[in-house]
Amino acid sequence: MFDFLVVGAGFSGCVISERLAKNGKNVLLVEKRKHIGGNAYDFYNEDGILIHKYGPHIFHTKMKHVWDYLSQFTEWRFYQHRVYSYVDGRYIPFPISIETLKELYGYDFTPREFEEYLVNQREDISEPRNFEEVLLSTIGRDLYEKFYENYTKKQWDLSPSVLDPSVTKRIPIRYNRDTRYFSDPYQGVPKYGYTKLFESLLNNERIHVMLNTDYKDVVNEVRYKFMIYTGPIDYFFDYEIGKLPYRSLQFEFETLEIEEFQPVGTVNYPNDYDFTRITEFKHITGQISPKTTIAYEYPTSDGDPYYPVPTKPAHLLYERYKGKADSIKDIYFVGRLAEYRYYNMDQVVDRALKVAKEILDRDR
Ligand code: FAD
Ligand code: UDP
Repeated sequence: MFDFLVVGAGFSGCVISERLAKNGKNVLLVEKRKHIGGNAYDFYNEDGILIHKYGPHIFHTKMKHVWDYLSQFTEWRFYQHRVYSYVDGRYIPFPISIETLKELYGYDFTPREFEEYLVNQREDISEPRNFEEVLLSTIGRDLYEKFYENYTKKQWDLSPSVLDPSVTKRIPIRYNRDTRYFSDPYQGVPKYGYTKLFESLLNNERIHVMLNTDYKDVVNEVRYKFMIYTGPIDYFFDYEIGKLPYRSLQFEFETLEIEEFQPVGTVNYPNDYDFTRITEFKHITGQISPKTTIAYEYPTSDGDPYYPVPTKPAHLLYERYKGKADSIKDIYFVGRLAEYRYYNMDQVVDRALKVAKEILDRDR
């Protein structure tokens, strides 16, 4: 008899399993893929390059308790992600900052001039209600069209006018010269890779891992008291009230016989090609090799569910599923897929720590 059946071995499932096992609970962790780590899984490919199978993952957080918690299981490589956007045939620093305009227009704005420039560019929209309106009222049409409009259409296959305004918060507009992609005080990647971090989280004899297994194939055979579910919430309910939309990506990996392909970890291609971005992993991992592996990301609607779609109708459908989930007492729904939220890794870890604490406190 297990105390907990945990479904999914991504950050949500692994952190909760670690916390529960550490506090004396027996856990069965069931994962449908052939590996642990969820979308943060990494491995050495046949050319010996450490790659992120499901796209570039950079850890960044403002939450010291999350950083400290994970630091028990890994050392970190100091890494601060930098991104260029390929616009008008040139690499331009992104997110938008004074350096972006310097590269784009050849003029070095003072912070004050930069602010005045943006104020003049802004469209007068008193209550911006969507992704497009927020940006038009912050940076104006010229920068919006160069950097955001087409990338967003490619990424979501939707008009930016139907996307939730919260998506814009993922990318800051910087009134300074900071060209880092993230400005959180804690940033990096696990020194020996994410998979090693997951192995370390699960290194407890009270945790039993079952790979290659959809939980529905075993749920009636296994005896357990509570379930933690981190898979897609609509799948849990057999799509009873309809399928939730998820956006997926197709990754195309290429190994080249050169030391470096591009100057930074990721280059975004808003206006050219069908892919959204190219990542070169060696920048992120710091690996030294005469070869390099890059990944192209092609957004698609088929394939593994990666992104909850941030639109009103999708959210409303999710709320109906959540209503059903809330009425089940002994099952906890946690994570990007189960809560249908565009969570980053740190937010998922924070959430998992909170749920584990709630469970353990209740048990006292
Ligand atoms: P997941 O990692 O999706 O894990 C869920 C697990 O459940 C999966 O392994 C799945 O196989 C398993 N599962 C599903 N259904 C079943 C079932 N029926 N039975 C058994 N197992 C099942 N975050 C950052 O902080 N920084 C980044 O740079 C970053 N980059 C990203 C880039 C891309 C391309 C993507 C898609 C995401 C990125 N993220 C990033 C977000 C990050 O991947 C997520 O926040 C994190 O992986 C969520 O963890 P999770 O455990 O909730 O979900
Ligand atoms: N985005 C954009 N241009 C870019 C990068 C991002 O328009 O060059 C928009 C796009 O809609 C994207 C969102 O901002 O989905 C969030 O970007 P982020 O880099 O956080 O995407 P993720 O890493 O989650 O795929």
